[in-house]
Amino acid sequence: MESALTARDRVGVQDFVLLENHTSEVAFIENLRKRFKENLIYTYIGSVLVSVNPYKDLEIYTKQHMERYRGVNFYEVSPHIYAVSDNAYRSMRTERRDQCMLISGESGAGKTEASKKVLQYYAVTCPASEQVQTVKDRLLQSNPVLEAFGNAKTLRNDNSSRFGKYMDIQFDFRGAPVGGHILNYLLEKSRVVHQSHGERNFHIFYQLIEGGEEDLLRRLGLERNTQQYQYLVKGNCPKVSSINDRSDWKLVRKALSVIGFSDDDVEELLNIIASVLHLGNVQFGGEDSGNAYITTDTQIKYLARLLGVDGSVLKEALTHKKITAKGEELMSPLNQEQASSARDALSKAIYGRTFTWLVNKINDSLAFKTASYIQTLSKNASVIGLLDIYGFEVFQNNRWEESNCGLYYSIALLCFQWEPVQYFNNKIICDLVEEKFKGIISILDEECLRPGDASDITFLEKLEDTVGGHVHFLSHKLADGKTRKVMGRDEFRLLHYAGEVNYSVNGFLDKNNDLLFRNLKEVMCMSENKILTQCFDREELTDRKRPETTATQFKNSLAKLMEILMSKEPSYVRCIKPNDAKQAGRFDEVLIRHQVKYLGLMENLRVRRAGFAYRRRYEVFLQRYKSLCPDTWPNWDGRLVDGVSTLVKHLGYKPEEYKLGRSKIFIRFPKTLFATEDALEEI
Ligand code: ADP
Ligand code: MG
Repeated sequence: MESALTARDRVGVQDFVLLENHTSEVAFIENLRKRFKENLIYTYIGSVLVSVNPYKDLEIYTKQHMERYRGVNFYEVSPHIYAVSDNAYRSMRTERRDQCMLISGESGAGKTEASKKVLQYYAVTCPASEQVQTVKDRLLQSNPVLEAFGNAKTLRNDNSSRFGKYMDIQFDFRGAPVGGHILNYLLEKSRVVHQSHGERNFHIFYQLIEGGEEDLLRRLGLERNTQQYQYLVKGNCPKVSSINDRSDWKLVRKALSVIGFSDDDVEELLNIIASVLHLGNVQFGGEDSGNAYITTDTQIKYLARLLGVDGSVLKEALTHKKITAKGEELMSPLNQEQASSARDALSKAIYGRTFTWLVNKINDSLAFKTASYIQTLSKNASVIGLLDIYGFEVFQNNRWEESNCGLYYSIALLCFQWEPVQYFNNKIICDLVEEKFKGIISILDEECLRPGDASDITFLEKLEDTVGGHVHFLSHKLADGKTRKVMGRDEFRLLHYAGEVNYSVNGFLDKNNDLLFRNLKEVMCMSENKILTQCFDREELTDRKRPETTATQFKNSLAKLMEILMSKEPSYVRCIKPNDAKQAGRFDEVLIRHQVKYLGLMENLRVRRAGFAYRRRYEVFLQRYKSLCPDTWPNWDGRLVDGVSTLVKHLGYKPEEYKLGRSKIFIRFPKTLFATEDALEEI
């Protein structure tokens, strides 16, 4: 007994449910701290896995570790992402239910790493054949590619995912992974043209310049110096100590070929990446009239070649906008500022659409190829989905495309619905944002469509008129004196679960419109680049209907995601970031307390403990504790429920302390289980 206590003193409890002082946040954090110190980064709250980013490589992801967790019951081994992975896999196999794993936490907390560990676990432990091996390789190799094009160095995370990702792994009747599908949403396109101080553009640009072979760079017209490119200098952060762009380049090139990109595909892809850099260097001067002109022809020459477009048409399109007056089409000149933003809009459109193309291409390669597989799939196969929720970040001055209000909605629904949270109902705020007729998104869409004097400020005024009365909404005008001081005139504030978030309406309308002038679109439609031909469809030009706005698109894609997830059985991984310095061994209590709060961990714990907090399948319970009772040891031959009943009576469980269900025992108080666990340690 003595030694067990000492051990618990040192390493804490591996399940918060076993904490004696369970309502205390202090005790909760103390337990996290003890375990973190011992490099025990994983702890459960019942079946929810809490993970603290160690910021160093731990020897806990070896093949031996994987084997240890394979087929073993959840509670018999120490908490691990592999245990959760294995548990989901087995539920899928035995109960034939699709699973999903919801991984949440703020930027840098370890979500993406966690999802990679899950994928690796399945790749190693699931049955394989030659065909399956190919799928496994492709699943694994999709990561470096997506990260090269969709991740960037930010202040919070050197490898921050700048897009949301949901990935399905499909298994056949033998439990072998036979395919996958990725849904991407909301790439942070604005990063292509601008980065805040200390941040970088997407990794691929640096990888290409640092790692690209001499003749490749020559062909693309690039110099081996990232600081030559306007789109790469804004953050003043060319190098990152934790990143080796040159060796990453090699990995990405290899990954592309494993996934099945042909040399042609890669060539066209790199033509596009280089084009974006050249576009960024297109500079405009202003004539006396104010009209913009392009100062040098060098970039245009490269652009024309790499994109396969006519240089003079491109030139004109970058400095003019096509307008229709009295049924006639005219080219109206742009001023310098307008030309710069038209250029940036083009870069964003090209990069954003290429990213989507990339994801589609990866999906093609992960899809089942043979008819027999499709048959097996429809009959027997099951799915495990991984959701790496990005954007759970509270910024000052949020840009709408980063704010992911819809994501808060999904997080709330997904993470809390199954275990209802009483005193917080995020649905209110979701309605505020998304409600069909008078929600923020629909007001935004309406302003975007309204001809005439619509502007960011008229949008804000409309908001005040329409949702100004909402308790979760505040604007400068509506705020009281004290709050008004910390809010800009162009801001509104939403009270999210994660805290208050101010949004500046600056650029809202343009962003939502994703404004790309028609003549630039026309040029892209003429491109001979095989990827761009697929990205820019001529139909877009003829279609009179306005394309969906960004906010609406996002809302719809989230709705689809929600539907997918709701049909699956969830497991939860909550990631915590221990400090802002990305350092090993540092446990910043203030920061952690904040995350414990907004991840709703105390609430998770409370819900777990209320009612019958602990539930275990009969066979699991019996297997673990049968040695504590002579009648069940070494084996119980009768019905499982009778065995469990005999066992707990022998252990002195009182009738009000437990209930026997159909297949599980429910235990009301953790202390009961606690005592039983202690008894185990004594023998
Ligand atoms: P998120 O996706 O939540 O923004 P990441 O998964 O990208 O965060 O993690 C940020 C960084 O933290 C990683 O690049 C890695 O250096 C480190 N990290 C995260 N999880 C682990 C882990 N389990 N072991 C070691 N390092 C980790
Ligand atoms: Mg990430």
